[in-house]
Amino acid sequence: MKVLVHGASIDPQGRLRHALVGLARRGHALQWLEGDAPEEPGITPVARLRDIHHGDADLVVGEGSPWDLAWRGWRLRARAALLATSGRRLERWGLLERWAWESLHSQALIDEEDSEHVLRHVGHIPLERFVLWAGGEPSSAQRPESPDVELLERAGERALARQLGPLRRPAFFVDRDGTLIVEHGYLSDPARVQLLPGVAAGLRALQAERIPIIVVSNQSGIGRGKFTESGMFAVMARLRAVLRAEGVELDAIYYCPHAPDGGCECRKPGTVLLERAADDQQALLVSSWMVGDKLLDAATGRAMGGTGVLVRTGYGRDEEERIAGSEFGRPDRVYEGVGEAAAAFLAVREARDSA
Ligand SMILES: [Mg+2]
Repeated sequence: MKVLVHGASIDPQGRLRHALVGLARRGHALQWLEGDAPEEPGITPVARLRDIHHGDADLVVGEGSPWDLAWRGWRLRARAALLATSGRRLERWGLLERWAWESLHSQALIDEEDSEHVLRHVGHIPLERFVLWAGGEPSSAQRPESPDVELLERAGERALARQLGPLRRPAFFVDRDGTLIVEHGYLSDPARVQLLPGVAAGLRALQAERIPIIVVSNQSGIGRGKFTESGMFAVMARLRAVLRAEGVELDAIYYCPHAPDGGCECRKPGTVLLERAADDQQALLVSSWMVGDKLLDAATGRAMGGTGVLVRTGYGRDEEERIAGSEFGRPDRVYEGVGEAAAAFLAVREARDSA
């Protein structure tokens, strides 16, 4: 996400500030307008609103007044807003505040102890627009794997997805290692993130058609003790940055941290992560694709009720030779790489739309 933080509104000791640092460490691009910006590689301090270009922020984030946040969002043509607030503040909102709030697709972040108060006294905002902070020590929220950061990221992504309207859309689910980037085997060094040929152009074409691009990755290296969750986020952050330099903004990343024998349900070919993503991103699974360099990825696509696609990058060529005897069965489609798969996805969609 490209985020404008209304820094002057942010409590210097508060949970939101810490979680925003964690969000930057997940690879989102934050511009910090006014106030005391945290010193963090992904956070750019900005003195004046006019120093930011239109299109440089999809999401605005702040605390306190919806009016203060909304007009900055309008100026930048941002698509959605996240506002950290409290039950007492919400209760005092007048018409102007409500109108400003409705003008951007906004979500409110509130403390858990405020939830009763909101339920009793704030009947004018639909409950689906509220997100409860995760609890625990706010200062630990700077870690990218902390629940507060997860919550902030998902709230922002959900707000952006809902801003596009209520209809569910076909999504492009895609594996990471060997599919988007060069396969290194348990990659934990961000410096080794290298896009495969054709990936950037393919994803750009999808993004131009507003197709959600959602990375779904088995990261069993965490469960096997080969690297930490923080280490994985550093690699994901690098992936986001490398793609951003190519003009591509990932809509979301989902990962399974468990070892294959851990008995979890989220590991591909399980479909739990894709179902969760479909809910967050308003994706329609039956017309979505899951693209990856393993037969397991293609099997996941079929298991979700959509299309399973194998690409010949990474392990893909070896996997293709094993199709006949594989427990995962035959992929619906096989392509050279993500670029070719993205073009085919768009062609299928166009054919369906014009049928
Ligand atoms: Mg892979």
